[in-house]
Amino acid sequence: MENRKTKAAGKTLSEDRIGILVDTTVCAGCLHCEMACHNAHFSPSLSTNDFSDPAVFRNYRRPDDKALTVVNEFPNQKNPLLPVYVKIQCMHCEKPACVSACIVGAIKKKRRRQRSVEQ
Ligand code: SF4
Ligand code: SF4
Repeated sequence: MENRKTKAAGKTLSEDRIGILVDTTVCAGCLHCEMACHNAHFSPSLSTNDFSDPAVFRNYRRPDDKALTVVNEFPNQKNPLLPVYVKIQCMHCEKPACVSACIVGAIKKKRRRQRSVEQ
């Protein structure tokens, strides 16, 4: 049987990686996760100032070859003053920079067979 580790793109990836939970009830739309991912995989020189333009929320975005994670903003029917932010991302990293960068702990990486109940 093949080794439980898979080599891809020069990085060691665990076959245990299955999913990343994003708690949209606490996501603040700060885009720090986008910055951390960008700095980890593309250019390490960008700062929070480069991800502070709210105009980015005008159009729905999908991850692509220049942004492996993106956060979109949606209207909140219950409270128009508090939009809902939904992060879309890959599940590439063994130690995801996007998870470490989250200021409110909205992202949790779970190992295989781990269960969690968000209440
Ligand atoms: S897991 Fe997170 S940091 Fe890693 S490539 Fe995907 S979005 Fe970027
Ligand atoms: S998931 Fe975390 S880091 Fe990303 S926009 Fe939401 S609060 Fe910010």
